Amino acid sequence: MNKEKGVLTVLSGFSGAGKGTIMKHLLLAHPDTYNLSISATTRYKREGEEDGREYFFKTRNEFDEMIAQGEFLEYATFNGNSYGTPKAYVEKLLNEGKDVILEIEVQGALQVKHLYPDCLLLFVTPPSAEALKERLVGRGTESEEVIAERLSISSRESSLMDKYDYLIINDDLDEAVEEVHELIQREHLRTAHRKNMISDIQTQLKQFSDI
Ligand code: 5GP
Repeated sequence: MNKEKGVLTVLSGFSGAGKGTIMKHLLLAHPDTYNLSISATTRYKREGEEDGREYFFKTRNEFDEMIAQGEFLEYATFNGNSYGTPKAYVEKLLNEGKDVILEIEVQGALQVKHLYPDCLLLFVTPPSAEALKERLVGRGTESEEVIAERLSISSRESSLMDKYDYLIINDDLDEAVEEVHELIQREHLRTAHRKNMISDIQTQLKQFSDI
């Protein structure tokens, strides 16, 4: 039987909801199971980040050229910077039957759902708005102004939460990681991800159809 395509998962969530931490722990717990797509961005490189690890850092011209060449699966603007998912890498892995996770914001997530209706959309949130604010303040890395801006973006993003398939409430990190893992694994059982299996059984059963 031919290998089924991999499951494409899109993980979004408010800034400070802990989606990056969930991803890190998921990849540590299941290093051979999941592949995280690395996006291209025009934003500046933060301290500790490396080109090709967190992002492929691009100039505006390079990013626009990638758009013109049709290299993105989706792209969007967030807080004044452009972010895009390289198409070739994602499609190659999915065709090889590997599971791919995109950690992207809401506009891009909805573009992906449109292109891949069978993808799994997960939205990460803390248990309350107050908890979100506390986490952003607790990081101690952002000014009050930046925190206010992030919260205002979150408020706008929250209007699209109900477009997602599942909500991951990141209260207990280990539980949230396990939930993401289980949801992706369960996705493999859906008929949409068993097309080859279905067609094989149909072919095998044809021999009995004339009796
Ligand atoms: P940051 O600048 O904090 O790394 O990311 C800002 C936002 O952009 C986050 O919500 C992150 O998930 C999102 N993001 C990262 N890569 C992509 C991408 O390729 N496409 C889209 N649409 N959003 C992205």
